[in-house]
Amino acid sequence: MKIAVFPGSFDPVTRGHESIVRRSLPLFDKIVVAIGVNADKSGYFPLEKRMEWLKQAFHDLPQVSVESYNGLTVDFCKKTGADYIIRGLRTSADFEFERSVAQVNLKLVPEIETVFLLTLPEYVMVTSSIVREVHRHGGNIDQFIPEQISI
Ligand code: ADP
Repeated sequence: MKIAVFPGSFDPVTRGHESIVRRSLPLFDKIVVAIGVNADKSGYFPLEKRMEWLKQAFHDLPQVSVESYNGLTVDFCKKTGADYIIRGLRTSADFEFERSVAQVNLKLVPEIETVFLLTLPEYVMVTSSIVREVHRHGGNIDQFIPEQISI
């Protein structure tokens, strides 16, 4: 069984994230969307809310589950039985950062491969940090978040 983990902060989940998960479906039998919990950084939205929105966003997909984890992503993958990590690439800056992370992860656990999907052009500017900024100042974020959720 091909299991992949899609790790991130999902603070909050966006249409960009949703698109990556839906486009990954044909590649894997099971996708675990996993919120990495960072002890030093609590996030803008509470963890429980971020989990709830992810569950609602992928409610129609039985092969997608939502979890959270502490510690290294590769350790969570081992625990989950996942051999793949999914990441999305928007810009060349994303690429430079993601390359280092993926190469370090390969050093730590050579059996776990990171698979990158390029963002659809319409979602290049959809970042959680911009969505948070619009939300913080009272703007409408509906067009950036999955249709199935309301924040
Ligand atoms: P992190 O803090 O780990 O980057 P994010 O929640 O911001 O967590 O992102 C999780 C993953 O989703 C990353 O691989 C990121 O590149 C990808 N991603 C974020 N926004 C988009 C988008 N608009 N299109 C495609 N991938 C995206």
